[in-house]
Amino acid sequence: MNNGYDVIVLGLGGMGSATAYQLAKRGRRVLGIEQFTPAHDRGSSHGRSRIIRQAYYESPVYVPLLRRAYELWRELEIETDRRLMLTTGGLMIGAADSAVVRGSLGSAREHGLAHELLNSAQIRRRFPAFRVTDEVALYEASSGALFPEACVAACLDRAAEQGAELVFETPVTDWRAMSAGVEVEAHGVTYRADRLVITAGAWAGKLLADLGLPLVPERNVLFWFDPAANRASFAPGAFPVFIWDQPGYAFYGMPDLDGSGVKAGFHHSGIRVDPDNLDRTVHESETAAIRERLAQCIPDANGPLRSSVVCMYTNTPDENFVIDRHPLYPQVSMAAGFSGHGFKFACVVGEILAGLAMEGRTAYTIDPFRANRLLLPTTH
Ligand SMILES: Cc1cc2nc3c(=O)[nH]c(=O)nc-3n(C[C@H](O)[C@H](O)[C@H](O)COP(=O)(O)OP(=O)(O)OC[C@H]3O[C@@H](n4cnc5c(N)ncnc54)[C@H](O)[C@@H]3O)c2cc1C
Repeated sequence: MNNGYDVIVLGLGGMGSATAYQLAKRGRRVLGIEQFTPAHDRGSSHGRSRIIRQAYYESPVYVPLLRRAYELWRELEIETDRRLMLTTGGLMIGAADSAVVRGSLGSAREHGLAHELLNSAQIRRRFPAFRVTDEVALYEASSGALFPEACVAACLDRAAEQGAELVFETPVTDWRAMSAGVEVEAHGVTYRADRLVITAGAWAGKLLADLGLPLVPERNVLFWFDPAANRASFAPGAFPVFIWDQPGYAFYGMPDLDGSGVKAGFHHSGIRVDPDNLDRTVHESETAAIRERLAQCIPDANGPLRSSVVCMYTNTPDENFVIDRHPLYPQVSMAAGFSGHGFKFACVVGEILAGLAMEGRTAYTIDPFRANRLLLPTTH
């Protein structure tokens, strides 16, 4: 038996590592439990880079959280003296009335965010790698890349330095809410704490099965290509992070951040998976599909394939997050369903969860992320 923890954090990926860090910083006695190794590549928080941006096309409700995320990532960079983020500028490309362009413009205007609206001739002049025809784009100078493995490692290290106990390669097999506190089973050991935070990524649906939340893990592939021509036009500074709204799935990419190639991927695949039985082989048909998109849109990036890796999204029906206390057990909080756009928020999600777990509230607006919106009336 292990007693005496204020809070157990179940899952130490993007969200859990940040939550453990925030709780330890507040002086809480934290136990973090992770089934794999620190900053592993089996979940959703690997692949060398993640886009961070503020003119959020998905909804303006995210903008206050993004402002805070930028502050917290910078603070963590200073605290750890590590580089976690690189500002490259970002292009949100599409037809003028596309969700990506219209949505990012709406967020920029509502929140007074610095941005430029570029027509296709201006895009071609400033960023000649993009083969646009009649698309427009919102350009945001503050957009850029986060380095997810470094971010997770920084949070874990700061959590441990401030007293958090972190155990790895320890899958949690069960948890129970008691009349007071919680019990968590892992490796035949029962851990007890006053509170539990579940940040289990693609496994959240399994750990919260009783609740019946519609959380759907989805397989997605990241690719890195050596430029076929004009290598210098893909360097950070010359080439922005981008999301390009197109029929079918949008696609996105990154400059060649560290010599490992230009990154590209589709935002969604439609392939539903079981996280415990994930096909991690990247198939030729998948490489062919992204090559076809590159050949059409960024032909100079379509050179030799350097590497590729499988990663998982966890989708909700409305693609908004779930960040809430458990509807049945107030001592349990959870964050899941990040629908392929959560990493940039991890540091602020940690702050929100630390507040929800210990004080039952947060100063941030999380109404759009409440679990109840996704639950059938009979289940709560
Ligand atoms: C291909 C791809 C591209 C993306 N691009 C972007 C982007 O550009 N920008 C952006 O903001 N977001 C992006 N995302 C989304 C973002 O990376 C995710 O939303 C985020 O990483 C989710 O973090 P998480 O903590 O919920 O999941 P994870 O990081 O997977 O953490 C969950 C953890 O819980 C652990 N766990 C689960 N079950 C158990 C158990 N029973 N016992 C112990 N441990 C357990 C897992 O091992 C894992 O470590 C992308 C995701 C992918 C896959």
